[in-house]
Amino acid sequence: MTATRTPGVPVVEDGALVSTNPATGEEVGRFPVASDANVQAAVARAREAAAWWADLGYAGRAQRLLRYRSVLANRISELAELVRREGGKPAAEAIVEAAAAIDHIAWAARNARRVLGQRKVRGSLLTAEHAAYLEYLPYGVIGVIGPWNYPVFTPMGSIAYALAAGNAVVFKPSEYTPAIGQWLVDRFAEIVPEHPVMQIVHGTGEVGAALCRSGVGKLAFTGSTATGKKVMAACAETLTPVLVECGGKDAMIVEADADLDAAASACVWGGMTNAGQTCVGIERVYVAERVYDDFLARLVDRASKLTVGNGEDADFGPITMPSQIEIIRRHIDDAIARGGRAVLGGPEAVQPPYVKPTILVDVPEDAAAVREETFGPTLTVAKVRDGDEAVARANASTYGLGGSVFSRSRGMELARRLRSGMTSINATIAFAGVPTLPFGGVGESGFGRIHGEDGLREFARAKAITRRRMPSPLPAMSFDRTPKAVALITRAVKFVHGRSR
Ligand code: NDP
Repeated sequence: MTATRTPGVPVVEDGALVSTNPATGEEVGRFPVASDANVQAAVARAREAAAWWADLGYAGRAQRLLRYRSVLANRISELAELVRREGGKPAAEAIVEAAAAIDHIAWAARNARRVLGQRKVRGSLLTAEHAAYLEYLPYGVIGVIGPWNYPVFTPMGSIAYALAAGNAVVFKPSEYTPAIGQWLVDRFAEIVPEHPVMQIVHGTGEVGAALCRSGVGKLAFTGSTATGKKVMAACAETLTPVLVECGGKDAMIVEADADLDAAASACVWGGMTNAGQTCVGIERVYVAERVYDDFLARLVDRASKLTVGNGEDADFGPITMPSQIEIIRRHIDDAIARGGRAVLGGPEAVQPPYVKPTILVDVPEDAAAVREETFGPTLTVAKVRDGDEAVARANASTYGLGGSVFSRSRGMELARRLRSGMTSINATIAFAGVPTLPFGGVGESGFGRIHGEDGLREFARAKAITRRRMPSPLPAMSFDRTPKAVALITRAVKFVHGRSR
């Protein structure tokens, strides 16, 4: 059967997923769609591979992961070109994305033993005769389901940390970016040819659902909130633990004492990089009234200079997923119908497969453009009294992923009060590039963390062990305890814990 092609819309032909360039419709690759049985078989193979991979120990795994990261670094231009062809983003943006992912692989490889390895921990009053040990052991197989918008960086935030922790991975990339997923898995197989430690299963959402039900040790999902709920429900059937990284509606706060030029520059990039298809992209801006007009003028000036297209010099490219264009259009139309104004772009900026920069003002706070994830190069800008009102408005969202504060004096204070997993002060999205910082959201943005120490622990289970070092001087946890021992315990507990400080 031959399906009609729309640029960027994947189709299944003869059991293969056909991916196309969202700007030109050029075919990028064909990948066999996995059946339920294929998914089960991949997970079974991964279980065996996981045992081998775990046995390599931290040093053996780190050595291979560091070789993998150097292959990706040396072939970064090839990877970036593939990201441009399949996802539509300019190669320069793809280089930045891949570079950040490579940094994470190196960090996870180098830090896994320190964070997860066995350590001795303190005992307690009742167990003085025991030594106590804590370590974090791999789950075995991690299922990773990824989105298309950052097809290297986002899945690698789970994959690298899962592998460093000693797990094997079965990866289901988005149906919009299968070639990129395959490329990443093929490079890993060149470094680790012995066993299928990192496998890929291709297909639509049904394949993702099959992976949820496949009996993996844990499922790491990144994607929309709506799908995240389905993933949780499917995983609940087998009590499979989940990591859920979902969408956002990130706010940026511009206080009256902000560097307005820097704020406008960061806002344009944070809101419009990758055509706004960024989970931690800025979508709402709250500006102190004293600097509102000045900031808005600088913002519009900068945004109006952005170039949009498929060329090498474009600042951003097409909307990758054609169905998203209607959502962006609806948000702009609704904002304007409800009294908002487009000071740049507007309905005429929607020119499929592109959407040009759009800045909306006077949009009511309950409009879709302020409440729902738009995922396009659009910003709503609202005037507020000061940073305090900005925090209150920013926090009145069901989402809580990232955010940004621009202020010379109140940055840390306002950043801490934002209800989000991450915040950048005097920058946008900076936190995503710092491997030591955990990444994840609250509320409808999900739960669990990738990156950093928390990201390593996310892919491991705590294992607690005690070892008797000597006979019990004061048997407490035994029917052998004597009345004298109980009296001593009573005295000891009062002595140690009886004081109020
Ligand atoms: P989707 O939720 O549509 O898809 C995400 C992944 O889930 C895809 O691989 C998809 O497969 C798969 N999937 C679809 N249905 C099911 C199902 N029933 N069971 C299991 N898996 C399923 O998200 P998008 O790909 O459109 O990605 C964009 C979203 O991701 C945005 O909301 C964005 O904010 C969010 N995101 C969050 C990040 C974070 O770290 N918090 C980072 C990056 C993006 P298929 O593509 O084949 O349908």
